Amino acid sequence: MSQNTAVNSDSFPSGRPVVFRNATVLTIDPSLGMIESGDVLVVDNRIAEVGRQLVVPESATEIDAANGILMPGMVDTHRHMWQTALRGFGADWTLTNYFMFYYINWGKIFRAEDIYAGNLLSAIEAIDSGVTTTVDWSHGLQTVEYADAAVDALEAVPGRFVLAYGNLLGAPWQWTKAPEFADFIRRRIDGRGDMLRMQLAFDVTGDPAFPEKAAFEVARDFNLPVTTHAGVWGATNDDGIRLMHENGFMTPSTIYVHAATLSHDSYHRIAATGGHASVSAESEHNAGQGYPPTWMLRRHNIPVSLSMDTSVWWSADLFSAMRATLNADRSREHLEAHKRNETVTLSHLRAEQVVTWATLGGAQALGMDSIIGSITPGKKADLVLIKNDQSPVMFPLLHPYGHVVFQAGRGDVHTVMVDGKVVKYDHRLLDIDLAKARQAVMKTVEYAQAQMGEQAWDQAMNPEKAVVELIDNPYTYTERERDKAAQEEASQGS
Ligand SMILES: [Zn+2]
Repeated sequence: MSQNTAVNSDSFPSGRPVVFRNATVLTIDPSLGMIESGDVLVVDNRIAEVGRQLVVPESATEIDAANGILMPGMVDTHRHMWQTALRGFGADWTLTNYFMFYYINWGKIFRAEDIYAGNLLSAIEAIDSGVTTTVDWSHGLQTVEYADAAVDALEAVPGRFVLAYGNLLGAPWQWTKAPEFADFIRRRIDGRGDMLRMQLAFDVTGDPAFPEKAAFEVARDFNLPVTTHAGVWGATNDDGIRLMHENGFMTPSTIYVHAATLSHDSYHRIAATGGHASVSAESEHNAGQGYPPTWMLRRHNIPVSLSMDTSVWWSADLFSAMRATLNADRSREHLEAHKRNETVTLSHLRAEQVVTWATLGGAQALGMDSIIGSITPGKKADLVLIKNDQSPVMFPLLHPYGHVVFQAGRGDVHTVMVDGKVVKYDHRLLDIDLAKARQAVMKTVEYAQAQMGEQAWDQAMNPEKAVVELIDNPYTYTERERDKAAQEEASQGS
């Protein structure tokens, strides 16, 4: 492609093959590995061939991927997309602040159109940063009309999505039983293939009566995977896992989000039933669900996928997730060794593994690894080209997996393909109406500000600061001590 022509989706007409040329290809397919100066040919919506100097149909559009890294589209297995409407609002929150804001005080004010606004912006953000499949952990769905709005937004953006249907204000054993809920599945999900799938999203409180049983039964009846926040300090614990297990609701399709504050017994139950974890390291670091658990999940052989949780605090790009995950895992290995007065001399977790979690790991968690998650001939073509010839960060390219995790960022995402369709090229989204998303989100912000009032808005965004107790330092003569000494002198003098 010439850099000078105006690029739009007409530049990549449907039906015409596309070939990526001369990339460092991270296939994440164990039988193919990494291919330097590699080509990937896409025909229709599938990966047709992977190799070097491929002979391709004359009609193929060529994308020059030299100096770039071509990898599978990333998969985020847990994101509350509706909350992107208040992007960054909770930067200084704890989990308690978050619960107070959405569960106790303000979650109820959000309207169907606000869900649409947040989802639309979040969906665009996902594909822009190379996240080609996103689970919309949609727990703002107060009625089915809200769910319609959520899906309207997801269908307006050419990404792959999984609607994890939830409702933080209602009881899952009630709303899953509503006839309009079953009707929604028939109307909006059935027949959408692998571009739009559905899960049930609810948390298990640990109440010994296990009221969530009815919701699990609905999931089973509709053949829907369940995704649940598990091992969240102060909210969900081992009791929930035990109840799920004893009642036969832990399956290979179950996703345990965070899975941080759990006992070995719970990890054994997850591993034995084939479930997957969704680790949101940046979230766990900040909010307090528990320490990002990959260092422990690896020992239990529990498969890992990655997620960013919510843009009310964090970004929605998996570069952040990969980096936070590797940081957390290595940090914990060091600290555990130091406790034993030992030194870690060989890194346990490698960059390659983390890139695999961000791609194939997510696909496996969603039961979609036969379709996406690696650059394997026959799979659907969800691809990300990381290439930025204007950036000092893109050379030398010596350790490509490490480059993805520690060097690259979403600004380096050059081309994104979803289901064989180029949706971003040369750092620009193709035919995406960002202005529409901006308008919708600004309306939601104005509405929320008006509903909450200035004072509540400010207080919610800027929670009271925790008092930091200074540690006495025997080597410095602090002001406090000078005052104390002066007082003592004065009292002695009197
Ligand atoms: Zn969450």
